[in-house]
Amino acid sequence: MSENSAAFEAEAAEGEEVAVKPVVAVVGRPNVGKSSLVNRVIGRREAVVEDVPGVTRDRVAYDASWQGRAFTLVDTGGWETGAEGLAAMVARQAEYAAQTADVILFVVDATVGITDADAAVTRVLRSTRRPVVLAANKVDGELQEADALVLWNLGVGEPYPISALHGRGTGDLLDAVVAAFPEQADARAAAEEEGPRRIALVGRPNVGKSSLLNRLAGEDRVVVDSVAGTTRDAVDELIDLGGITWKFIDTAGIRRRFRQLQGADYYATVRTSAALERAEVAVVLMDVSEPLAEQDIRVVEQVVESGRALVLAFNKWDTLDEDRRYYLEKEIDRQLSRVSWAPRVNISAKTGRHVEKLVPAIETGLAGWDTRVPTGRLNSWLKELIAATPPPVRGGKQPKILFATQADTRPPHFVLFTTGFLEDNYRRFVERRLREEFGFEGTPVKVSMRIRE
Ligand code: GDP
Repeated sequence: MSENSAAFEAEAAEGEEVAVKPVVAVVGRPNVGKSSLVNRVIGRREAVVEDVPGVTRDRVAYDASWQGRAFTLVDTGGWETGAEGLAAMVARQAEYAAQTADVILFVVDATVGITDADAAVTRVLRSTRRPVVLAANKVDGELQEADALVLWNLGVGEPYPISALHGRGTGDLLDAVVAAFPEQADARAAAEEEGPRRIALVGRPNVGKSSLLNRLAGEDRVVVDSVAGTTRDAVDELIDLGGITWKFIDTAGIRRRFRQLQGADYYATVRTSAALERAEVAVVLMDVSEPLAEQDIRVVEQVVESGRALVLAFNKWDTLDEDRRYYLEKEIDRQLSRVSWAPRVNISAKTGRHVEKLVPAIETGLAGWDTRVPTGRLNSWLKELIAATPPPVRGGKQPKILFATQADTRPPHFVLFTTGFLEDNYRRFVERRLREEFGFEGTPVKVSMRIRE
């Protein structure tokens, strides 16, 4: 694993970097007001469970923002286990926080002064390279401001006098927190394209794409291209279905005849990925009059890898007899189990059978694709999951999952903040359980982890 302090992002399949909102971890010994501060910062966004001493909080991470900067706020009080000495426990929490957070918000009770536990936290924080913002809490009025000055002695920088309960001084504190965020390329700034939702109709040659398109568009025009091997600019078509306008991507590519061309397969693959690139949801059309082909499965895999929502449409249903139907079910079970989450429609472009079921299936896929799970809810669910099924020991160590955030939608992408490597198996298990809890019908779901050394 990486030796520098840079974030190490592991992605199940691709090893791609994820843009995660900055993480701010609130550390400090019990009773200094961590939960009150968390409450104050998140406001009514997500209710914090009442902080009863001795009762473990069921949520640890929340969505927060200040001055337009969104971040994840982590309450390390939710990690309390209590089986060890106070100073040791708090120090270990600070260690985890330093491993996972971008900024550490260290809360000290100014009316009490520096305790052993505070000193233990300070030792941990000094050895990390994370920025630390020091909150001197319970400074309810000007008279107590002098108490805060003593905290300079901790040696972790300027103490910000605040009252988490009354809100005094928290604005300046949050300014300091936001100022400490790592520089971010504002990749997400590019606004999502407005307008009709974009559908790619894909599938190997001859499955009935152009027939279906003609049926959907309500007209019988087939464009035959006589110029072999030429690429024309993609042409999109707006089609009204179920009272909504949809944009079908690269309909020129669908209506053209590839199959006589040499290298048509390769060309179709390239054209499909170009269409997927611009689409939000893919309808993969398959021909039930023939056994599912490797090429069908490849197209499905292309969609999953592109991260688009997926609908499986089994065409030429009019040709199906009982016998074929039996084998088809077996083929689907065997070859498409990886995408068992995708809505399925059985249609006939020729007769029009069940073609109207495409729109609800597409809408289901897009809804899953767009889904965002609030961080608080995600983490209360995760806490139970981990308690019931902790990650397996690896190399003699038990990796701990401290919290999770949903880094992205379209498709949903979850990042688990951990103290060690999680096996692919365990991440797939988390994905399955996420699906059981939150749905995500019709969309790929990514689960990756973030480990820092
Ligand atoms: P594409 O290459 O995917 O665009 O496929 P086409 O739309 O050109 O269809 C290939 C062949 O399948 C044509 O002969 C169509 O008439 C036929 N076909 C398309 N859909 C259906 C269907 O639902 N039922 C039957 N029986 N034939 C169909």
